[in-house]
Amino acid sequence: MIAMENRQTPVLYIVIPCYNEQEVLPLTAPQFLKKITDLAAAGKISSDSRVLFVNDGSKDRTWAIIHELAASDPHYVGICQSRNRGHQNAVLAGLMEAKDRCDITISIDCDGQDDINAMDGMVDAYRDGCDVVYGVRSKRDTDTFFKRFTAESFYKLLNAMGAEVVFNHADYRLMSARVLQEFARFKEVNLFLRGMVPLVGFKSTCVTYERHERLAGESHYPLSKMLSLAFDGITSLSIKPIRFITGFGVLVALISFIGVLWAVVEAALGMTVSGWASMTSIICFVSGVQLICLGVIGEYIGKIYMETKRRPRYIISETTPNFTRSKEEDA
Ligand code: UDP
Ligand code: MG
Repeated sequence: MIAMENRQTPVLYIVIPCYNEQEVLPLTAPQFLKKITDLAAAGKISSDSRVLFVNDGSKDRTWAIIHELAASDPHYVGICQSRNRGHQNAVLAGLMEAKDRCDITISIDCDGQDDINAMDGMVDAYRDGCDVVYGVRSKRDTDTFFKRFTAESFYKLLNAMGAEVVFNHADYRLMSARVLQEFARFKEVNLFLRGMVPLVGFKSTCVTYERHERLAGESHYPLSKMLSLAFDGITSLSIKPIRFITGFGVLVALISFIGVLWAVVEAALGMTVSGWASMTSIICFVSGVQLICLGVIGEYIGKIYMETKRRPRYIISETTPNFTRSKEEDA
């Protein structure tokens, strides 16, 4: 824990998860370095600030490039995960490693899609007293219509489910050291950072920016991964789907009860109760619905199962020579 907060010239760590980014890293790394140099020259952050790369078990030259960068300038530092664990875990690894060395972190992707210049506004907001500053995409012209539509539906659904998620904010955000210290106490293994950070509280604000095209390389988030992140997000943050199932069950039971009454009355009046086809389709429909409901409940049981194991959320296998780990993290 840093002894005293330094709100006017904070030490900034830019935390950048990287997975197979050998094409894009040489293009964006100098931009991150320039940003901390410029901010330090303007007296807004300390010159002890760093660009911290988290290599998420890349299979290409990414880690070698991070080593070269660290050798070229001491402001570049890097840690390497022992294997690929996904974007959320990579960001967490960087934040947890940075939290005892700095006053603020800014997490950002390494592909140049998020406007680096929004960091100026984030740092200003911190200097004015905010502890969390969310980067919010003002427009998403560079994303396809499909990505925009699915993303918008996702945020709406999350909020409808009672999760507090900032609209159009991904994981580009500033967090102060004291927020990180509190955040470290959130021990869940199923990570959905953008839904967890608002739960920490403290004063927060938003800074808007325009989202660009990826500078090089390819997105690691195809539709299947996006859907799984969305499903994970909802089930990690809310138990409303289970409540919905209960409500739906009550409704179906009521309708069936009315149906049974109707059949009994018809039979009592001596009218033939016909309708084999409708009966079969109702049985099939209800069985299908039951299986879906079981699946949703199973998802929560799976989450409980994973949480009870308390496995580490990240494992660092290596660091660049200019970055020594202070202690083994119990994350
Ligand atoms: N990333 C990671 N581990 C992974 C997948 C992605 O660290 O398993 C990093 C990636 O290098 C990038 C960021 O997470 O810096 C976001 O990934 P990407 O740009 O592919 O996602 P998109 O912006 O298309 O949603
Ligand atoms: Mg990207």
